[in-house]
Amino acid sequence: MTKIGLEIHCQLTKLESKLFCSCKANYREFKPNHNICPICMGLPGSLPRLNQKAVESATSIAMALSCETPEKIAFFRKNYFYPDLPKNFQITQLNVYGDMSVGGEGHVDVEGKKIKIRRIQLEEDPGRLIYEGESERTKITLVDYNRAGTPLVEIVTDPDFENPRQVRVFLNILSDLLENLGVTEPGLEGAIRADGNVSIEGGNKVEIKNIGSFHDLEKALHFEITRQQSLSERDIEISQETRHWDDKRKITVSSRSKEEDQDYRYFLENDIPWVKIPQETRDCLKKDLPESISSKKERFVAKFNIAPQVADILASDKYYSNLFENAHSDSDAKDIANLITTDLMGFVDTKEKREESKLTSQHLSDLVAAINDKTLTRTSSKTALQEIVKSGKSVKGLLTEMDLDQVSDSSEIEGIIMQVFEEEKQAVIDAKENPETVNYLVGKVMQKTKGKADPTKTLELIKLKLN
Ligand SMILES: [Zn+2]
Repeated sequence: MTKIGLEIHCQLTKLESKLFCSCKANYREFKPNHNICPICMGLPGSLPRLNQKAVESATSIAMALSCETPEKIAFFRKNYFYPDLPKNFQITQLNVYGDMSVGGEGHVDVEGKKIKIRRIQLEEDPGRLIYEGESERTKITLVDYNRAGTPLVEIVTDPDFENPRQVRVFLNILSDLLENLGVTEPGLEGAIRADGNVSIEGGNKVEIKNIGSFHDLEKALHFEITRQQSLSERDIEISQETRHWDDKRKITVSSRSKEEDQDYRYFLENDIPWVKIPQETRDCLKKDLPESISSKKERFVAKFNIAPQVADILASDKYYSNLFENAHSDSDAKDIANLITTDLMGFVDTKEKREESKLTSQHLSDLVAAINDKTLTRTSSKTALQEIVKSGKSVKGLLTEMDLDQVSDSSEIEGIIMQVFEEEKQAVIDAKENPETVNYLVGKVMQKTKGKADPTKTLELIKLKLN
């Protein structure tokens, strides 16, 4: 049987400052090595000061993943040398004297299967090495410490996944959950990174690191399972090791034998005393957790009678569910949900487009009202929506300006139908013999009116004329 476990690193990108100093957590907007100070550079004599908000965010993550959260947490030094780590140790957490990390013993349901969350810990991100050209052959390696010390939450699962597909579903659920909590922005490069470990039929565990995206992780897991199966068929022992994903060759490559925890010579970080998180603080954090995606989905279905698939798409995305919640009244909720999921999501599909979009919830309410009172057809509403996203103009203004008002005047539509019947003689004969083909003629009328003709009335009038 295949067993897969995950280690996910999530940056707390919504925080102001790094984990132990006042440098910015948002290191991305700085020139290399311009977001550093004696503390995150590990200069002699500097002392770390713990970011309280980081502890709170990490605890909220633990709670949202149904973890136990202890009253006291502690930090440890994990000693190792690597050029991206200026102190020569990373401040992290370790459950060595009982449970001392921010959370543990949680779970997430993935398509009816319970995936156990073993541990959640708060730690600092190292800096970044930038290789010139291909990493293996490069002569020059640059180091940027802007990221060093940014707050990172590590989430470790049990090896409960049976296949790479379950991993993908889990990561999507987790990424939506973290965004919904308001602790991170999954769209930012490197904000959520996942490493995997795989073993087959009780064999040794192989870790896979250096994976750029969730998509690559899935590919790397597939490759690794096949590699281990083929070794096992030939009775070759699978060695316990860490392998790197080579994105160019699409294979995993052995990088080093796996270190054990004792190799890191962990010891308690005495510069940060034990941190107490009192019950009242934890109660407050629990009370402030946002509504979970699953309960939001259930509420959308039960209260507004929205189809479960539509409710799922809507609830999973904080940006769209906020737009929806602010736009609807109880009576038009379903129409607004459909407008968002069928039209809007199609062209406001990246973080940049969301940020540039001028659309407000009021626009959505006005659009649906115009469709429902038949001043606007569904087809024209798409054109209007695109224009609103770009310009932010009001629906009323657009109707006149873009000449989008629905044509529902019978004599006007009849005139256009006459033209179409003249031009499409064969289609008229076909429609008389086979009523199912009548939609072709309706389509032609819509085309001529640039989507403005009332489709129900058009169909009625065409049918009358055919008889
Ligand atoms: Zn700093």
